[in-house]
Amino acid sequence: MTETRMPEELELQGIGVSPGVAWGEAFVLESADRRNPRYLISPEKAAREVRRLQEAFKETEAEIKRMREGLAGELGEEPLYILDAHLMILSDELFIGEALECIRTNHWNAEWALENTLEGYEARFTEWTNEYLRERRGDVRQVIQHVLRRLMGVNPQLSAHLGPPDILVARDLAVADLLGMNRTCMRGLVQELGGRTSHTAIIAGTLGIPAIMGVDGATSSIRQGDTVAMDGGTGVLHIHPGRETLRNFNALKNSYEDRRQALLHFRDLPCETTDGIRMVLRANISSPAELEVIRTNGATGVGLYRTECLYLNRTDLPTEEEHLEVYSQIIEGVAPEPAVFRTFDLGGDIATDALTPAVEANPALGLRAIRLSLAREDVLRPQLRSLLRASLQGRVHILHPFVSGLEEVRHANDLLRACALELQNEGLAIGNLPPVGILVETPAAALMSDVLAKEVSFFTIGTNDLTQYTLATDRGNEKVSYIYDALHPAVLRLIRRVVQSAHESGITVAVCGEMAGDSISAALLAGMGVRELSMSPRRIPRIKEALRSTSLAEAEAWADEVMSLPSTEAVRAWAVKHITMEESIPPARGVSVMMGQAG
Ligand code: PEP
Ligand code: MG
Repeated sequence: MTETRMPEELELQGIGVSPGVAWGEAFVLESADRRNPRYLISPEKAAREVRRLQEAFKETEAEIKRMREGLAGELGEEPLYILDAHLMILSDELFIGEALECIRTNHWNAEWALENTLEGYEARFTEWTNEYLRERRGDVRQVIQHVLRRLMGVNPQLSAHLGPPDILVARDLAVADLLGMNRTCMRGLVQELGGRTSHTAIIAGTLGIPAIMGVDGATSSIRQGDTVAMDGGTGVLHIHPGRETLRNFNALKNSYEDRRQALLHFRDLPCETTDGIRMVLRANISSPAELEVIRTNGATGVGLYRTECLYLNRTDLPTEEEHLEVYSQIIEGVAPEPAVFRTFDLGGDIATDALTPAVEANPALGLRAIRLSLAREDVLRPQLRSLLRASLQGRVHILHPFVSGLEEVRHANDLLRACALELQNEGLAIGNLPPVGILVETPAAALMSDVLAKEVSFFTIGTNDLTQYTLATDRGNEKVSYIYDALHPAVLRLIRRVVQSAHESGITVAVCGEMAGDSISAALLAGMGVRELSMSPRRIPRIKEALRSTSLAEAEAWADEVMSLPSTEAVRAWAVKHITMEESIPPARGVSVMMGQAG
């Protein structure tokens, strides 16, 4: 008798971006470009080929529009913005024109012409004058592959291919595909590219699909139909999981579920340490549609309202009245708690057609956030005026992003006073000047926090950018995510310094980066003297649970201990050993993983 050999079990590690455990058969999505037919057409068939390409564009556009209509109301605004971006790309005359010209002059088939145009665009990214498209190169590739699949008659919605229970494995899944597919067939998502902040990761999180990004070689190591087991919290992936692994995954799944149930209970309890210290947990949001999630998760007001969404996917700028309308909804939705509105953080990796800085070699270090606002007072003024007017309706706080020096703060404060005077002269009512704070997210601001604290009413520490700029590590690049870690001693020292400066000047200090939504980091922050944390609303019940099981005295002792350690590795090793909380702490395996992400 011949013995059937089981395929060997293989473990891969990626970046867990959307928590949850799943296993099933792999559906490996071949990227369209691998199968693109390339052939020459006879000159008399060029007109027909041109029509074929134009129709594929039109049909893809219609499909995305249908999808957009279907999704409005089902999800928040974020996925819709992405679909809007895809629609903009599909209507880019220059891009389509170039592909059509390729057919007419080279007599290439439509797929070849389109692929060639895409390659040409990708090679010229840095020269693109359309800043919006330049910044959206990932979206351009995704949406063009969508058109290519349509040209080749491949069902773009994938529903026909997926059968439950499937784990979708892709190199770089188009957001439109993820939104459009029949999601009841999908248990999880594994991708080669991307990190926590990539669009597809954000959408997978919104939809509650366990997801892992940055799994190098996933589409070549995993074959169609292979059994795969994945943990979207830790980023661990098993190909051909054995019985033992599946048993472990099953237990893990049950514990995820138990914890989710337990969290429903914590949601409604106050956030208080065991020795009676109150912590305030606020929400980070970017549209009024998210007010509902705030309520269901028990957030106390809004600690970070990212106002830039109002500027995206349009060619004009929002008017003062438009700003006012949105801010009024937020203020009313969270009353009597405050809402902290960040003035627009555009430029860098978020650019707009209407407010496009010149092409920059280093956008992350360029004319972004408060630098751009102060360079464009004509754009900042309507926002400040609307915030002043909105402050009559409730508790408005104003937060300026990416401050690197005193002059910026003074300039912004002068402008706010000038706007207030202007409104009074126009006979428009305003309340008292709202508290103004700065987002401490550059090492310069952290190091100068003792000086800056005398100029503002509050600090909010933006640990996402503070980590990026302190460690000189792109927060969206999975290749260097092993360095990017808010628990690096350099970041911790800066945080402690900012907290001390705030306390010495008697102003409040909050933390609003992703770190605030990580339970062990939250306890360390409390130990450093932070009493206000702002995070994605879904994280709130878990953080409440963690802080309710910790005394401030022990959090302070942990923070003191951690501050004396020499490296990120030492901090994480110490925390794993000494801080026990009811959640799994994933081991650091070459990629940075937030502690306590499961659940
Ligand atoms: C931060 O930098 O920590 C922050 C909260 O702002 P954003 O993530 O929008 O850059
Ligand atoms: Mg930031």
